[in-house]
Amino acid sequence: MHNERDTSLSLRNPLAKTKRIVIKVGTNILVNKNGKPNKTRIDNLCQSIANLKKQGYQVILVSSGAIGAGLHALKLKTRPTELAQLQMAAAVGQTCLLEEYGQRFKKHKLPISQVLLTHDDLRHRQRHLNARNTLHALLENGILPIVNENDVVAVDEIKVGDNDVLSALVTVLLDADALILLTTPNGLRKPLAHGKTTRVPYLETITEESLALATGKTNPLSTGGMATKLLAAQTAAKIGALVIIASGTTSNTLEKIMSGKDIGTIIGNPLQASRKSPSRKRWLSYFHRCQGNLWVDDGAQMALRSQGKSLLPVGITKIHGKFPSGAMINILNQHNETIGQGLVEYSSEIIAKIKGKKSREIKAIIENYHNDVVIHRNNLVITH
Ligand code: GLU
Repeated sequence: MHNERDTSLSLRNPLAKTKRIVIKVGTNILVNKNGKPNKTRIDNLCQSIANLKKQGYQVILVSSGAIGAGLHALKLKTRPTELAQLQMAAAVGQTCLLEEYGQRFKKHKLPISQVLLTHDDLRHRQRHLNARNTLHALLENGILPIVNENDVVAVDEIKVGDNDVLSALVTVLLDADALILLTTPNGLRKPLAHGKTTRVPYLETITEESLALATGKTNPLSTGGMATKLLAAQTAAKIGALVIIASGTTSNTLEKIMSGKDIGTIIGNPLQASRKSPSRKRWLSYFHRCQGNLWVDDGAQMALRSQGKSLLPVGITKIHGKFPSGAMINILNQHNETIGQGLVEYSSEIIAKIKGKKSREIKAIIENYHNDVVIHRNNLVITH
């Protein structure tokens, strides 16, 4: 018989063979309720990472805790609401955090580095490649990258906003084999009879039902932040990474996970996932936020899906949103199904004028004509 637990165990064995692991640790693990760093847990985390490095794994640590540590250092009792104050706390706290890690990893003779990223850095093609190359260079040289969001400059438009999501993006960026999200509960839980709950050992994909468990729609004991973890897991699992959500409050969790022990919730199925999509397609699929919609007719749908063509104005039937040229746009068919996404050559204003027009007509309509294509094939991913 093949059940959830069997699948969970059969996936845990190959974990030992993985090479590159992203480990994300949240503020609730690193910082006590009174704002002070939790020295024991940081000690344990650093010890475990040093152990994994000795075993030959490449490790990337995505660490939160900068703002928490900053509030403590600045003796602020409550989290400020003003952005500049929060960013000040992040600036101060990031150095405290690195100091904590620095002292410990020095004892383990493990060189460390600080990598601060925003969503904008991962979206912009050249900066994306720079970040990837730097991280690869650090890993090849045995240096532990400690990644956080660059909170000092991040405002809503350019922010990832959450380190669970950031860690999933780093997993995609580096094509990592596994993502471990360390949090307070030991994985996702589901309700049993009489108000009891049980751990979910394995999820192949993230569904409405699993999200409902996390958001507490059906589970009164659910924990905040689990839904974001599941969504982050979904992203990383799409590229074939195994994701484990487990407790970071106990020692040796990382070693136990990597030796295949049945703890936490394991998510994904590397055999089903499309691990080898080219890097440019990945960049298009995972690192952009869509700023509008274009609807296409059946002919254009066929040309995009089956014939590997670019999107021309003649196939566009409707447009929604206000966006500049270069923006990422969703492409929908006549049944309102999203079939893909791509970067547009023209702004929404111009596309509204040229939609439905033949290529030879559009030169006369637009002033700065450079191309009769709205989304070039190279800037397009078909998802459905
Ligand atoms: N970047 C934030 C910090 O270091 C944490 C964000 C998060 O935990 O998701 O405080």
